[in-house]
Amino acid sequence: MTDALEINVTKAERSKLKDLNLENIPFGKYFTDHMLEADYENGEWKNVEIKPYQPLLLEPSLSALHYGQAIFEGIKAYRSEDGDAFIFRPYDNFRRFNQSAERMNMPEIPEDIFIEGMKQLIDLDRNWIPAKPDHSLYIRPVMFSTDTTLGVKPSDTYKFLILLSPTGPYYAAPMKIAVEEKYTRAAPGGVGFSKNAGNYGGSMKAATDAKKLGYDQVLWTDAFEHKWLQEVGMMNVFFIINGLAVTPSLEEGTILAGVTRDSAIMLLKDMGFTVDERKISIDELTSAYSKGYLQEVFGTGTAATIAMIKELKYKDQVMEFEPANFKIAAELKNRMNAIKEGKAEDKYGWLIKI
Ligand SMILES: *Cc1c(COP(=O)(O)O)cnc(C)c1O
Repeated sequence: MTDALEINVTKAERSKLKDLNLENIPFGKYFTDHMLEADYENGEWKNVEIKPYQPLLLEPSLSALHYGQAIFEGIKAYRSEDGDAFIFRPYDNFRRFNQSAERMNMPEIPEDIFIEGMKQLIDLDRNWIPAKPDHSLYIRPVMFSTDTTLGVKPSDTYKFLILLSPTGPYYAAPMKIAVEEKYTRAAPGGVGFSKNAGNYGGSMKAATDAKKLGYDQVLWTDAFEHKWLQEVGMMNVFFIINGLAVTPSLEEGTILAGVTRDSAIMLLKDMGFTVDERKISIDELTSAYSKGYLQEVFGTGTAATIAMIKELKYKDQVMEFEPANFKIAAELKNRMNAIKEGKAEDKYGWLIKI
């Protein structure tokens, strides 16, 4: 990068932080004083500004609302014990955001707007990063199409925003998961690997149906046989089978390549485990369970980090686990959190200082 990015900054007159107690604050409910906004027009990004968090004025014909060109990311920033602020692996999210953009026929966002813009925004709202264990600042970049015509075509104009939301400990109670046999999240050639808004709209019915039966989420399976395992809700999934870590592989493009998934693979290898990224079927899982080989099951994602799974239901079979005895998942979670909170060596360079 040569020139520093020129960002217009308008500061909020009064901070809302005074009205809020950051302790145990719920996920995604409150937003900081400022947001970043940029517009894409005539083939270039312009009007990059940081301004007070506020509503947007949009036309009813906004193309994103009708045809769904909308993508997002989820990242976290932490405050270390000595007060420094860090973002966890934002370059990985930056790359993934542009892969989502490419798939959805949207323009790429330049690195300086995404990364430098994010850093400047967080720096301005630095006091909003809760300085408490397990608390963090959730960062939500989002891009959507803004043409105001009902013609079905890729939009010529887009808006990019970064919102910041302080968040308390994400209490991930051990989950009960139903293996999905009716609905499909992703198929080869589709958009499953992208973080586009429609993927989430399309998955809500399955989650709601599962909840009616007492389950927290579904374990997605492939579109053709409902047999090959994909991911749990908005998390990637890991299995410990007979001392070996296994997670579904990414090559079919039907799984979101989680940054937490990637971090978990590296840390599990550090812990001395072999990690197999490969196709894994529900039949292999039930068979391993019946032999007593299926030791631990957990999900990985930015919001919860590691979420233990205590029950998996497939047809009339129920596989039960005791998450309190999950030694590997617990150790993995501790190692990951220690790095994020600056308490363990960051040997992979995951933390970007602000
Ligand atoms: C965001 C997301 C994940 C987790 O990705 P992280 O980068 O680890 O937060 C997993 N699956 C889906 C469908 C997601 O949207």
